[in-house]
Amino acid sequence: MSAAPLTAAGDRPTPKWQAVEGRSRPVHHVREECRACGARTLKRFLALGDQPLANAFLRGPEDVAGEPRFPLDMYCCTTCSLVQLADVIDPEVLFAEYIYVTGTSTTIAAHNRGYASAVVTELALTPDDLVVEVASNDGSLLRCFRNLGVRVLGVEPARNIATQAVAQGIPTEVRFFDAAAGPALRATHGKARAVIGNNVLAHVDDTAGFLRGCADLIDADGAVIVEVPYAREMLQGTEYDTVYHEHLCYFSVTALARLAERVGLGIRRVDEVPVHGGSIRVWFGKGIAHAEQPRAMMHEESVNGVSTLAAWEAFAQRTAENRRAIRQLLQELRAAGHTVAGYGAPAKGNTLLNYCQVDTGLLPYTVDRNPLKVGTLTPGMHLPVLSVDTLRERPVDYVLILAWNFADEIMEQLQFHRDRGGRFIVPIPMPRIV
Ligand SMILES: [Zn+2]
Repeated sequence: MSAAPLTAAGDRPTPKWQAVEGRSRPVHHVREECRACGARTLKRFLALGDQPLANAFLRGPEDVAGEPRFPLDMYCCTTCSLVQLADVIDPEVLFAEYIYVTGTSTTIAAHNRGYASAVVTELALTPDDLVVEVASNDGSLLRCFRNLGVRVLGVEPARNIATQAVAQGIPTEVRFFDAAAGPALRATHGKARAVIGNNVLAHVDDTAGFLRGCADLIDADGAVIVEVPYAREMLQGTEYDTVYHEHLCYFSVTALARLAERVGLGIRRVDEVPVHGGSIRVWFGKGIAHAEQPRAMMHEESVNGVSTLAAWEAFAQRTAENRRAIRQLLQELRAAGHTVAGYGAPAKGNTLLNYCQVDTGLLPYTVDRNPLKVGTLTPGMHLPVLSVDTLRERPVDYVLILAWNFADEIMEQLQFHRDRGGRFIVPIPMPRIV
């Protein structure tokens, strides 16, 4: 779910908290038990402050009053090492109005084709076998399986997107996936050889229930296959801005192994995949011991620190240094009379801006290519989001690249800025001028 969010109606985003007035459930609660092992041993190692929802762009100044903020703190379980958030925002509030179009990017399309053929080969799937994808979105991954002659079923909570998938011949059930979904889907569709969850496990609060539901749906020699961003990349790159309320877990193989054991699964294989800045694809089997290769990765994690609290405490220190350095740089540029604008209005940019308290005094505006974001204000810091053309029309001395994971591509697109002597600031892992 990391692709650019767009609103379903094509209108400007409506602040989500306004859409849920009169609700009976609390919007926010704090979890006390670890999502992987269930122990009450969560240790807070980083506080990013009270933050608005990173995708809740404001239509204008009229939306500023009443903008809610929730603690954005990171915890590490000292029993099983899972890095996670304890503050949970109701998924209806977080995800209700957003759709994620995954079928458009050519990189993702190639990734999907490779993914499907790897699964078909590894599990020796035949036309009778069923592949289920959870959070199947517009069905773009399942289409690749169908093209390889396998039976498919999607499970997708957003009705409008599920309808698109069905129109393209991908049978899709409209529902949230949870522990009860496994037995229910098995009763209506039969057992699956593979249940796939791509970038969904980190977003669900009941992590163990979700995985148990997946386990209930596969047959004895089937596989549950999940793809999640790898915590190692975040740790080593000081990518604290990938933290926002939607991302509840930051997985290592070690933590996934503890989680798997709890629901009767073992890890048979882990692939490293280069999407979303470094992810792992983890293959679980029923009632098996963890294989040698995942065990070797767990050992590596105890050495490189991904599964240790000490390494995450060091991460928190680097994060605080990053804030000091970003604020100092922007303050110095302003004092010297230089002009600065932002590039990109991604969710991660909002975590960075709010944590570093970069307001319009330090960064007067940012620009974005998504027409649905242009004309809005960023959550929390209320930077106006302007069109990319603004940078052409109003030259600035420095462009702070908030979407830094696309820095090379952005700098290429902004050759005119460079030609005028303009420079770039890449903020992560430490701010540097390019
Ligand atoms: Zn734990």
